[in-house]
Amino acid sequence: MTRILSASTHDLRARTSRTLAGSDANHPDPDYSAAYVILHTDGLHQGHGMTFTIGQGNELCCAAIEALSTLVVGRNLSDIVDNMGAFWRQVTNHSQLRWLGPDKGVIHLATAALVNAVWDLWAKERGVPVWKLVSDMEPAQFVDCIDFRYLRDEVDEVRALDMLTKARVGQKQRLTFLEENGYPAYITSAGWLGYPEDKVRDLCRGAIADGWNSFKTKVGIDVASDMRRCEVMREEIGDSRQLMADANQVWDVNQAIEWSNQLQPYGLRWIEEPTHPDDILGHATIRRGVKPIGVATGEHAANRLIFKQLLQADAIDYAQIDACRLGGLNEVLAVLLLAAARNVPVCPHAGGLGLCEYVQHISVIDYLSVSASLEDRTTEYASHLHEHFVNPIRMRNGHYLLPQAPGYSIEMKQESIEMLNYPNGAEWRD
Ligand SMILES: [Mg+2]
Repeated sequence: MTRILSASTHDLRARTSRTLAGSDANHPDPDYSAAYVILHTDGLHQGHGMTFTIGQGNELCCAAIEALSTLVVGRNLSDIVDNMGAFWRQVTNHSQLRWLGPDKGVIHLATAALVNAVWDLWAKERGVPVWKLVSDMEPAQFVDCIDFRYLRDEVDEVRALDMLTKARVGQKQRLTFLEENGYPAYITSAGWLGYPEDKVRDLCRGAIADGWNSFKTKVGIDVASDMRRCEVMREEIGDSRQLMADANQVWDVNQAIEWSNQLQPYGLRWIEEPTHPDDILGHATIRRGVKPIGVATGEHAANRLIFKQLLQADAIDYAQIDACRLGGLNEVLAVLLLAAARNVPVCPHAGGLGLCEYVQHISVIDYLSVSASLEDRTTEYASHLHEHFVNPIRMRNGHYLLPQAPGYSIEMKQESIEMLNYPNGAEWRD
């Protein structure tokens, strides 16, 4: 029986602002960072988890993880995972800490790090990757991982059980497909806002040579330069490949409609984060106003309730869940069900530091166990910072190959933990 003895937190930051990797209309100088936690045990394995930030404030997430870690230290892993949904309620509904949220902001980002570390530990103990741990579950066990409070007007336990039972049909064939092909992805790292035109062209050509068929560019500086960015991307990728644009919350609702409609000639599959992530009805208005461009959002959707309302309001064409904006895998599983119930594709947000490593599991779970569909689904990919992980993502022909190593793929190399340590690691010394 494995017991969690202690938790250590690590403030890790990569100096990406020096290269403008990750730059967008609202975040011109991100330092991709992880508030990282290790659950130390008396067993063979440790649980690793992290939440993602873009630099300053990462220390707040570390402090919040420390506050929450009292809820797991001293406990047996089996006591936690035998009641996963109840455990998640304990973490998110702590009598005093919930005042800091509930289910949003620093405390919820920290929740993701801690909860995902438990999933990592559980999967390592079982000797399987997290996607397999979940997709091998009986529907009832999957349902038990989720706290359905506040969701039952949309999907309750009975409906979820029915959906998951139906999705078991054909699971083996779908797994074979993934083993042979991987899960389809799109690439963001050719179109960062800070990149000059020549660099975008070079990156597009390189990506096409590597087999990519789906691209995204950042927009939101001014209409003329956005049109130019889309024009350049279209020239490079041709008409048959997908193009998406990401405004990173920079517009008002009316502005988003006017601006997006000026991009209609470029055949965008979606406009991403056109306005503030909490403006559910605003997204619905935008969606009606920019067709046939789709509306995508979710990387800043704080919790399952925001997604529930986005879906109920017919406000989005794509749900872009984030592996550690939501409070860890338990809440992600809930949103996969909500989206599948409304037939809205989940196209997870990734990039950053560690997000690709996380979301590859989520997309596989969605395909094997929840939506059972690949239709109009692609998972985000960016090329940065994978070298820091013990078992990094593997890509082929624009697809994520199935993760094989036990755990949630989020464990970082010891030398990377030392190097990225803020402010004393080598990354920050010069
Ligand atoms: Mg985005």
